[in-house]
Amino acid sequence: MSKVLVLNASYEPLNITNWRRAVILLLKGKAEQVEHNGKCLYPELMLPTVIRLRHYVQVPYKEIPLTRRNILHRDNHSCQYCSYTGDELTLDHVIPRSRKGGDSWENIVTACVRCNVKKGNRTPKEANMVLRNQPRQPYSSLHFEVAKHIKNGSYQEWRKYAIGL
Ligand SMILES: [Zn+2]
Repeated sequence: MSKVLVLNASYEPLNITNWRRAVILLLKGKAEQVEHNGKCLYPELMLPTVIRLRHYVQVPYKEIPLTRRNILHRDNHSCQYCSYTGDELTLDHVIPRSRKGGDSWENIVTACVRCNVKKGNRTPKEANMVLRNQPRQPYSSLHFEVAKHIKNGSYQEWRKYAIGL
């Protein structure tokens, strides 16, 4: 099923839809085609991969909850110290809780059991362990979704519409 990235009139990503819905928006004149994949759908219509709404839609800001699931997702289900991917993943407080490290997007990362035990009650610097990525708050859940699709290797043309990917 071919997916289509829908941009707001401001060119910011709004959501992801399927190609049928996207084509309906195009045919109704509610959106314009921005990118297509070169496949012909009708004589004068290429299969869209990115469309843009003609009218701006107001979107309320939605905060992403700080949960184990969302942190694992942000970190690609891989240990942020050794890149291990597998079942035995834990959450590590970069600055340990016992040393006043808080629960925040910036202070919690995915770590495998081995690294977590090895690091123990120390900061990464003290333990001589290097974080692969600087932990930070994700932009939005849509950003999550878009990143997933791009990382899967498809939808490369979405990249230029998503900041920081
Ligand atoms: Zn590890």
